[in-house]
Amino acid sequence: MHAPDHAQDASGPVQSGVVDTRPTRVRVDLDNLSHNLGRIRAHVGVPVMAIVKANAYGHGLVPVARHLQAQGVDQLGVAFVEEGVRLRQAGVTTPVLVLGGISGRQISQYIAHDLEITVSSLDKLHQVEAAAEAMGRRAVIHLKIDTGMERIGVHSYSSRPFIEAAAASRWCELKAVYSHLACADDPGSAMTALQLERFLEACAHFDRIGAPMPLRHLANSGGVLHFPQTWLDMVRPGIALYGVLPDPASRRSIDLRPVMSLVSQVVYFKVVKAGNPVSYGATWAPSTDTRVVTIPIGYGDGYPRALSSAGDGRGGAVLIRGRRHPIVGRVCMDQFMVDIGQESAWNEDEVVLIGRQGDAFLGAEELARMAGTIPYEIMVGLNERIPRQYVGGVAE
Ligand SMILES: *Cc1c(COP(=O)(O)O)cnc(C)c1O
Repeated sequence: MHAPDHAQDASGPVQSGVVDTRPTRVRVDLDNLSHNLGRIRAHVGVPVMAIVKANAYGHGLVPVARHLQAQGVDQLGVAFVEEGVRLRQAGVTTPVLVLGGISGRQISQYIAHDLEITVSSLDKLHQVEAAAEAMGRRAVIHLKIDTGMERIGVHSYSSRPFIEAAAASRWCELKAVYSHLACADDPGSAMTALQLERFLEACAHFDRIGAPMPLRHLANSGGVLHFPQTWLDMVRPGIALYGVLPDPASRRSIDLRPVMSLVSQVVYFKVVKAGNPVSYGATWAPSTDTRVVTIPIGYGDGYPRALSSAGDGRGGAVLIRGRRHPIVGRVCMDQFMVDIGQESAWNEDEVVLIGRQGDAFLGAEELARMAGTIPYEIMVGLNERIPRQYVGGVAE
């Protein structure tokens, strides 16, 4: 069982029950999620496909999808068919596109669960057609054109036969055609204009052969934030929906609020004497006696070990009593230590690892920079060992 399911049952105030009393939790603010969806919709003025892959970027696949459905989101996007099946089994009825490449033997699952299929080659188109015909049920497909990502999709420069075959297909309902932007996180990159041009040129083939133009979608969060020309008929924001910027170069062109907080508690307090090293490998020791607290979360929860500090100025930090304090020594599997200097802290004091505490704020973007990674990896890395707590939103 995945955390979001039982956390959904335990949404609202902390409940009794062994798992949910863990003081470490991912707090998901559903009102901020609604706010972000509303702002993105108002900004782009076209339908929104909310991307909920990878456990909704760590926020909990089913609770997030249900909330977005209640907000009337037009479409959901996941990476794998298994994620789509989980949504259907949870009673989510909003159209769902599976973004990833398909594996032939799974095609019948897409069709059986009413999941929309990414068709990324002529061969896969034929496989989907054969499976749909065998089931006597039309498959809803989105054609994937590669305009420069070189991941999946038919190259735009050789997409004409692909488009012709899809337009002529009897067993596939051609709902959309799409591509993916490689550099839209950076408003200064010239790559996006080139990809847009290639995409529109490929789409022009529908007109050329007199076929109806399907929906065209291209913009990820970077496209939504920086490149209005890429909005076309639908947008596919992921990280922006969760109130986090995709890249340090990104511009906050929309008022977005962070949806995720990560909180824990002080579980131990002590004084470490000057010169006595802390944690595995004895990589850090204080130069004067100092107060050190222990926090019960570690890399076994997906909190990056890269936030360890050897005292060279790099490493992570947390918020305690509204102040920022550095992680010291190595992050362990289940715990790590924080130097609070001469300040006071008590067992069970709240510790904020991502989010706001008083006037202090530590965002997923900044934590990612400290860990030498991107906020996506931080958020999706927080695993099912951490209970999710849902605040705001309407009771179901
Ligand atoms: C993950 C993904 C998105 C969303 O990306 P963000 O950068 O999180 O907005 C959109 N489209 C595709 C095809 C994706 O794989």
